Amino acid sequence: MIAAPPIKASKATQAKLDKLGLFTTHDLLLHLPLRYQDETRIYPIAHAPLGQAVLVEGEITDTNVQHRPRRTLVCQVEDGSGTMTLRFLNFYPSQIKQLAPGKRVRLFGEMRHGFFGMEMVHPQYRMVGTEEPVAEALTPIYPTTAGLGQAALRKLIQAALAECDLADTLPNEVLHPLGLPAFAASIAYLHQPPPDAPLDLLAERTHPAWQRLKFDELLAQQLSMHQHYRRRRAQSAAPMPPRRHLTDALLAVLPFPLTRAQQRVTLEIAGDLAKPHPMQRLLQGDVGSGKTIVAALAALQAIENGFQAAIMAPTEILAEQHYQKLSAWLAPLGLKVVWLAASLPKKEKQAALTAVAAGEAQLAIGTHALFQEQVVFRNLGLAVIDEQHRFGVHQRLALQKKGAQPHQMMMSATPIPRTLSMSYYADLDVSVIDELPPGRTPVVTKLVGDSRRGEVVERVRDACLTGRQAYWVCPLIEESETLQLKTAVETFETLTATFPELKVGLVHGRLHTRDKAATMAAFKAGEIQLLVATTVIEVGVDVPNASLMVIEHAERFGLSQLHQLRGRVGRGAAQSACILLFQTPLSETARARLKTIYENSDGFEIARQDLLLRGPGEFLGARQSGVPLLKIADIEQDRKLLEAARHVAEKILAEQPEVAERHLQRWLAGAEQLLKV
Ligand code: ADP
Ligand code: MG
Repeated sequence: MIAAPPIKASKATQAKLDKLGLFTTHDLLLHLPLRYQDETRIYPIAHAPLGQAVLVEGEITDTNVQHRPRRTLVCQVEDGSGTMTLRFLNFYPSQIKQLAPGKRVRLFGEMRHGFFGMEMVHPQYRMVGTEEPVAEALTPIYPTTAGLGQAALRKLIQAALAECDLADTLPNEVLHPLGLPAFAASIAYLHQPPPDAPLDLLAERTHPAWQRLKFDELLAQQLSMHQHYRRRRAQSAAPMPPRRHLTDALLAVLPFPLTRAQQRVTLEIAGDLAKPHPMQRLLQGDVGSGKTIVAALAALQAIENGFQAAIMAPTEILAEQHYQKLSAWLAPLGLKVVWLAASLPKKEKQAALTAVAAGEAQLAIGTHALFQEQVVFRNLGLAVIDEQHRFGVHQRLALQKKGAQPHQMMMSATPIPRTLSMSYYADLDVSVIDELPPGRTPVVTKLVGDSRRGEVVERVRDACLTGRQAYWVCPLIEESETLQLKTAVETFETLTATFPELKVGLVHGRLHTRDKAATMAAFKAGEIQLLVATTVIEVGVDVPNASLMVIEHAERFGLSQLHQLRGRVGRGAAQSACILLFQTPLSETARARLKTIYENSDGFEIARQDLLLRGPGEFLGARQSGVPLLKIADIEQDRKLLEAARHVAEKILAEQPEVAERHLQRWLAGAEQLLKV
């Protein structure tokens, strides 16, 4: 058993450590340096290399405060080889005394050739006696937080190194073929590299010591995913075999046949629901691939077996739209669908809650309001989570808890790149709809500089006057919701004035649900030709007659967001276009994003590029979700190690489960809980 001894620190210090996520001595061990300083040798002043941080030492021969051009503390230091100047632009009166002539000082800083010879500006310094030893190892510089100095952090980490059990969790048979060094040696090396350590390999994190720790972290993640998967397999859930009377009845009246891909995933899901273990399946399919009908069929299978189903969507607009669509499908079958949103009037909400609690409503659709405390299901058998990447782990967990052990199905239009599905999503079963319904014409994407706005306006007018409809997406203003709202209203007013012959509508997140729903309904019915919208329409909105989309300040949007937005058009037979208006000059990443979206229509490729541009934390939206992200490894950069970790995980779970257990103890002590979701 590898237990972490407690950290010996004052309450105030521990509070700072908490901020860094350092709760145990193990956390301290794994708090690795950002970079290193070479304080292992003292250079003679006259021969110190310029332009790099070096250590020098000497006696102060002169100290004075200059007043021009600004107040500066200036000292002269001599070491036998030569003299140099120190300059401090900000200093305390006490420093004048501390740095008095005759004292010895050890300096660390960048040596440069100033106007009066060698000098250092604001070096780190320490008063020393004679013959004081220099560091034997490179000095690590750690990520830290205000009020916790490097020296204090170093001391705590040194103590952790001395106290903790650094015994290897992995046997040689695992490490040797991969060329990985021992854990203890790797950890010690990274915290105290020898003076001749290859700083470039350390900085790139490709040094074997880094590789070892990355591997360990990835392996822990793999093991925990496998464990979770097995644990789920061991749980029981109500089996709901296909009875087919409701599903067949819906299929019979559907105006279109399912695509082959839809049929395949429907079968996969039907098979899962029939099993006595909780399903946890992710249904992936690009925007417009037709996930909603698949969810409806799954819900019907649960209902056929006497259970209730719930569908949760991330925005009210989307939830409302699902409600409309599913009611239209299910009501003729004699089923009751209710809608639950935070903004519902009290009376309606109460009625919906009662219907859900009594089991009178077979299907409940809503936003996160679905899993608030007052919502009680009579017997929830299936929870469907649409656009799952928009929800945090905690929210998903809450809904899951509403049933005894409901089957769970997640849907996402953001395809998961292979590296992510090998790591963060390794515990899910995945179904993929890899085919769009027939009759779609690909969306033409145009990049247009803001100076050509006039042409865009004419294009919108033409489209709307010939019976088609358009979206005008307002600029994203991440820093301020208020400002974003203001811009949306202004855009609406400007466009209303620009297009007197058109009916223009506006939707944004702050509108009352009723108004939002009314506007969306009017747009769907063709009463509104041009819909000005914020990103509330990003997910799920489905109006096939809308064939033109203008996105303002497209350079501010993320890749997946642009792909999702663009997916709102091209849903009917008409040729559709998406015009990305951008403001010059473009930043490097904005240019890369626009280029990617221009060149690709495949959501999978876009997601891959997005991951490369943003990194997995942002990609997963894990900030809110609380999923413990990898701290050391990087799934793209370290994909080879990830592959290796995956194989090793399978092997040791099968052959040496005690090794797996020990490894997880070291790496995941506190994080386990969150991974179980
Ligand atoms: P998404 O996967 O983005 O959630 P939707 O479920 O909203 O996609 O479906 C997009 C549109 O395609 C809807 O209008 C839906 O009715 C239609 N659709 C779904 N499946 C088919 C199909 N097999 N044939 C034709 N149209 C379909
Ligand atoms: Mg959808």
